[in-house]
Amino acid sequence: MSVFKYEKDADGIVTVTMDQTGPVNAMNSEYREAMSATVEKLEQEQGLTGVVLASAKKVFFAGGDLNELLAAEKGNEAEFMDMLRSTKSVLRRLEKLPAPVVAAINGAALGGGFEICLCCNYRIAWDDKSVQLGLPEVSLGLLPGGGGVVRMVNLLGLEKALPYLLEGKKVAPVKALAEGMIQEIVASTEELVPRAKAWILENKDNDQAAVQPWDNKGYQIPGGKAGSPKLAQLLMMAPALLRQKTRGLLPAPEKILDCAVEAARLDFDTALEIESRGLTYLAVTPQAKNMITTFFFGMNKVNGGASRPKDIDKTLTKKVGVLGAGMMGQGIAYVSAMAGIEVVLKDISQEAADKGKAYSEALFDKQVAIGRITADNNQAVHGLIKPTADDADLQGCDLIIEAVFENIDLKHKITQATQGRLAENGVWGSNTSTLPITQLAEAAEKPENFIGIHFFSPVDKMPLVEIICGEKTSDETLARAFDYTRQIRKTPIVVNDSLGFFTSRTFGTYLDEGVQLLSEGAHPVQIDAMGKAIGMPVGPLAVYDEVSLELTRKAQATWKEMGVLDKWGDGSVTRSVINTMVSEHGRGGRHHGGGFYQYAEDGSKAIWPPLLDMYYKPETQISEQDMKDRLLFRPVIEALKCLETDVLRTVADGNIGSIMGIGAPVWTGGYIQFVNSYGAQRFVDRCTELAALYGDRFAAPQIALEHAKSGELFA
Ligand code: NAD
Repeated sequence: MSVFKYEKDADGIVTVTMDQTGPVNAMNSEYREAMSATVEKLEQEQGLTGVVLASAKKVFFAGGDLNELLAAEKGNEAEFMDMLRSTKSVLRRLEKLPAPVVAAINGAALGGGFEICLCCNYRIAWDDKSVQLGLPEVSLGLLPGGGGVVRMVNLLGLEKALPYLLEGKKVAPVKALAEGMIQEIVASTEELVPRAKAWILENKDNDQAAVQPWDNKGYQIPGGKAGSPKLAQLLMMAPALLRQKTRGLLPAPEKILDCAVEAARLDFDTALEIESRGLTYLAVTPQAKNMITTFFFGMNKVNGGASRPKDIDKTLTKKVGVLGAGMMGQGIAYVSAMAGIEVVLKDISQEAADKGKAYSEALFDKQVAIGRITADNNQAVHGLIKPTADDADLQGCDLIIEAVFENIDLKHKITQATQGRLAENGVWGSNTSTLPITQLAEAAEKPENFIGIHFFSPVDKMPLVEIICGEKTSDETLARAFDYTRQIRKTPIVVNDSLGFFTSRTFGTYLDEGVQLLSEGAHPVQIDAMGKAIGMPVGPLAVYDEVSLELTRKAQATWKEMGVLDKWGDGSVTRSVINTMVSEHGRGGRHHGGGFYQYAEDGSKAIWPPLLDMYYKPETQISEQDMKDRLLFRPVIEALKCLETDVLRTVADGNIGSIMGIGAPVWTGGYIQFVNSYGAQRFVDRCTELAALYGDRFAAPQIALEHAKSGELFA
């Protein structure tokens, strides 16, 4: 029996309901067999009035089989290409049936799912927020190779299709309708198939209903062919603009642009062939392997709870207390209320707490303005946040998160003052960014209920939360903190306590290496350019200015007092540069009147001129490759050390944490995955070279040596 249910009604309409084995429909061998048999049967059908393509799953169709894509290797490209060709030829036959085919889209149709919809003559979608449409393949280093590039260009025209293809933009049904990606929406799933059938019957005598626009003789692509004068200017600029964005590190957008242009230049079937070649090329690149491994498989592992203790029931946080209504506290209150949680937002005065709530209100209003929530909803969410200066309001909180000033004595004091307000088994979370959780927990009556819940700024935008277990944190507390993080729709990575945890500790090495290069005499502009050349969003010196040299100096003073300064290596070079900058020159960073850069009112920045006199040595010769590798290898080495010493519990946490928390280049798939694609032995060899030239901080960690020897991947 096929996994595609086939039912013909009295009107001659066949409804094909896709219901593959497992939770989702996906383009794997089971699909290929079922779709091929179905199309063959439809081709032979007598008195066929039309076809409705429906899905028995919540998600209409999930897309390509990523395990299959991971298995594509250099050397077996021909096989992969054959498989693609045959998948696409079946879809081509589906769209050439003599009767119209209607997609009845009851759930998300992304990637391969939307490519199937594009083969249908008419597309009706359920207007619901669970339904998203689009072609996000680029975010996995791939291109929509199931006909998506060619059909989108033919449907929308090159200019309008490009953002969907190059940015992987996903849209809701209403927007898809306005864009011409679908033709109709309905208010409930129950209406989908009846409406699809009604449309087929309404168009029974319309010859054109079964013909795709691009199969009409003389069809004009909206906006014209690639050679048209209107598109000439766009096409002249596009490759350069794209390269500026990808910095030549991501092949997928460039390949997509090539294929899209070909789709607007060549005949339809030749363009499909070029598109298949494009996907085959991309599928075997290390970038695609890295991105699929981390953004899909790693992400599923992390969000699926690979680091959450098993056998502990799921909990729901109903009331959260947030101490400190400053920059972080405001954001934590906002994201919690957005998830329907009652929030007590406490600061030292009612006025300060009210100010914090006002920030959330502004964010809620923005959500209303862009249509994400309704005004009624907005009022309800507003009502969930209670600003206060009174500890008594915290009574009965399931969770209290403190986000007061970064000062260990203050944090101890407020823990002692308010921990008694927690509900039984309530969790105490600290949002500290630099203080060890185990030491903070010393003030707690129940250190087993104490945990780090480290948000990133700005809280409403940053998707990651780093959960830090202190020495005494219990599994139950970890499970509760994990569940709260999922409840507020963030991605939680779990790490064990260590100075700087995982994210700050790893990120710090990138900044440190930037300053090391400066102190060796490299040109500061070149240092930041090399940071960007490896794919970091910002160069190390510019980031240091944002993070603030002043704050770093303060944190280092605290670590010195605590006896943990230089715990992870010799920081004396950076310390000396920072001291000189801050103490001697008053250069504390961007928000302290300027740092390595000086900032103009219009937002532009330029290197602070005395910096060149202080550090730049024109005779210093460090090759660009060495600079790039130094800036990339330092955080990679640190991430491996975190894995080796159990600061990280899983490889996936390290990869997701580095991409989502500290901006690791996406092409690497995260700092640990980078070693898999670079090759562990090659990595160890390069570490040895760098260590000989620039110092022991580049020595390969033991865990890398072991993987180089065994050939085992980090997984
Ligand atoms: P902030 O200075 O903006 O806010 C701190 C707030 O705490 C102020 O509103 C202050 O009035 C309040 N406060 C002080 N004492 C209090 C008390 N006894 N009771 C209640 N409220 C009190 O600071 P922030 O940037 O929001 O940082 C807060 C915490 O979050 C720090 O531990 C910081 O290390 C951490 N953190 C900051 C960032 C960031 O990027 N700013 C990122 C992650 C973590």
